[in-house]
Amino acid sequence: MPGIDGFEVLQNIRENKNTSITPVLILTSKHVSKEELKILKGNNIFQLIQKGDVNLDELLSTIAIMVNPKPEKVKKSESPKTKIAGIPTILIVEDNPDNMLTLKALLADDYIVLEATHGKQAVEISRQHLPNLILMDIALPDMDGFEVLELLRREDKIKSIPVVALTASAMIYDKDAIIASGFDEYLTKPIDENVFFKIINEFLNG
Ligand code: MN
Repeated sequence: MPGIDGFEVLQNIRENKNTSITPVLILTSKHVSKEELKILKGNNIFQLIQKGDVNLDELLSTIAIMVNPKPEKVKKSESPKTKIAGIPTILIVEDNPDNMLTLKALLADDYIVLEATHGKQAVEISRQHLPNLILMDIALPDMDGFEVLELLRREDKIKSIPVVALTASAMIYDKDAIIASGFDEYLTKPIDENVFFKIINEFLNG
């Protein structure tokens, strides 16, 4: 370009706060040196097109993507409140990584799965995402599942979320005592898949 080269123009564009993130497509017919490429990369260039080898359709489609980028997929763990397109959200509260993996593997195809490894985190995630169902291990590092349940039931916003207790079958918990303390259901580990899905379906589809 006469009087000023593209590098300077780019630098001016980036230094102006109104255009600091405006997509820029570089067209060049000259060979770009490594040093120049570094400058371009450091200035957030959308794409570099060598003038000689561009055809009109390619150029137009590049510009179309540049001006109207596809929205990024929302990651499951960052899902906003409760439901995405009708998919129920389940919060798993479990401090044992192996158990967490097993539960996630069972649920991940059909539900949005949120994870908490201790009680305090479980309450925070519940407030933030309002899951449709909570599966809660009883033996947690910071407090036990009964205490977490009590905290959940204290807050209007989250008190009616169904909570299913997960207990190791080796532990002696009386099912009646668990239900009496306010849990909606209870499951023993290791998980029996048939019982597991029957209970989950009762809460989410029933
Ligand atoms: Mn545990």
